[in-house]
Amino acid sequence: MADSTVSFDRPQQADLDRCVHCGLCLNACPTYRELGVEMDSPRGRIYQMVQVNGGAPITASYIEHIGLCLACRACETACPSGVEYGRLVEAARADIAARAPAPFIARTIRRFVFGHLLQSPGTLMVFGAMLYLYQASGLQRIFRASGLWKLMGKLGRLEQLAPSAEPPFFFSQIGKTLPAEGQRRHRVAFLAGCIANISFARLNEATVRVLQKNGCEVVIPAEQGCCGALHVHAGLKEDARKLARRNIDAVLDGGFDAILTNAAGCGSTLKEYDELLEHDTAYQQKARDFVARMKDVNEFLASIELNTDMGPVAATVTYQDSCHLAHGQKIRTAPRKLLAAVPGLVLREMALSDLCCGSAGIYNVVENEMAMSLLDKKMESVNATAADVIVTANPGCMLQLTAGARLHGRGQRVAHVIEILDEAYRARSAASAGR
Ligand code: SF4
Ligand code: SF4
Repeated sequence: MADSTVSFDRPQQADLDRCVHCGLCLNACPTYRELGVEMDSPRGRIYQMVQVNGGAPITASYIEHIGLCLACRACETACPSGVEYGRLVEAARADIAARAPAPFIARTIRRFVFGHLLQSPGTLMVFGAMLYLYQASGLQRIFRASGLWKLMGKLGRLEQLAPSAEPPFFFSQIGKTLPAEGQRRHRVAFLAGCIANISFARLNEATVRVLQKNGCEVVIPAEQGCCGALHVHAGLKEDARKLARRNIDAVLDGGFDAILTNAAGCGSTLKEYDELLEHDTAYQQKARDFVARMKDVNEFLASIELNTDMGPVAATVTYQDSCHLAHGQKIRTAPRKLLAAVPGLVLREMALSDLCCGSAGIYNVVENEMAMSLLDKKMESVNATAADVIVTANPGCMLQLTAGARLHGRGQRVAHVIEILDEAYRARSAASAGR
C-alpha cells in the first residue's frame, strides 16, 4: 500500500520517547481496567506505535487496539513524564486512515457522516426532522417498550443512544447578536456546535441566557460550523483543518473578549487549533490568537464575577467530569464552583467521577460493547450517591448518561451545569414576578 501519510500526521518519535514505561497510567485507563490486557493500556499502545514507527506493518491487531482507545486522556493526567497521549493516538489514527484505509462500505459511511452530515446544516436539519417524527409519533416509545430492541443486537443497542431532536433547532439563532442583561461587561462569541443545533437546542438557548444574565453580549457568528473534534478523533486531520480555518475566519476579527463553547469535547479540539495548524504558515498565528481566547463556558463563568442573584434549585446532584474537560483541558474546579453557587443544591461526589462514561465522541457507536460496559460501571457509582440529577459538561456525555439512567439507573435526570444555572436564574425571575 502506498505510504501517503503527511509526516507530521504520524506519532512523532520525540513524543513517543517521553514514555519511560513506568506503568503509572495503567490503572487510570478504562480499557485496561476492563480487559487487563497490556496492549489495551496506554503503555501497550505506545509500544505498538513505536513498532509501527520503526517500520512494522499496520496490522488488524494494531488497528483494533488503537481503535479501542477512548482518547479520554486519563493517562495524560496520570503520567509523570508528560506524555501527550491524546496527540499520539490522534496521530496514530491519522496514520492508519492514510496507510490502511477502511473497507469501501465503512469508508463511504465515514465520508457521508464526516464529510457531509456534520458539515451541512441543511442535511442536519433533514436528519433532525426525521428523528423528531420517529420520536414524536410514539414509534420510539413503542420500540423501546416492546423490548424489540433487545432482539436487534447492536442496532437495537445503538437506538438506546439516539439523541432527541429538539425543534425549533438552534440553527435559526446563528448569525444573531443577543444583548447583555443590564450593563454590558463582556462581548463573547458562542460556537453552537453541529449536531447540538438539533439535539441540544434548549441547552444552547440556556447557555445564551446564562451568559446574558452575566453581562455578556452574545454573538453567534454566522459563518461558524462543526469544530472538527470528531474528525480529529477519527484520524481525518485534513478535514479537521478545513473546519478549523473556517471557524477561525468566522470569529477572529470580531473583537471578542472570549470565544465560548458549552461542549467539553469540542472545546478540547478548539483549544488545540494551534497544534492542528502548526504547519500552516497562513493560519498558525491566527490559530494561536484564536486559542488564546477560546474558553469552555464553565471556565469563563468561573473566571468572571458571577451573577449570584439566583433562586433555589432543590436537588441532590452528582457531577461526572467530562474527560475532555478534566483530562483534556484540566478543568475540574470551575463546574463545581458554579454548582456550589446555586442555592439549595447539594453536590454528592461519585467515586471515580473522572473515569470515562463510555461516550467519547462516537465511540459508543463504533465500540458499543466496551462503551456499554463502562456505562454499566459508571451507573453503579452514580446510583451509590442516591443523587436525583447527574450533572456534566458535555453533550456527548449527557446522551450516554441519559441512556445509562434509563438502562441501569434509578430515574435520574441528566443536565448540563449551564442548565442548572439557568434554572436558578429562572427561579429567581419567577420569584420576583410573583411578588
Ligand atoms: S486515552 Fe483513555 S482509553 Fe486511551 S489509553 Fe489513555 S486512558 Fe486508556
Ligand atoms: S505513558 Fe507515562 S505513565 Fe504511562 S507508562 Fe509511559 S511514562 Fe509511564
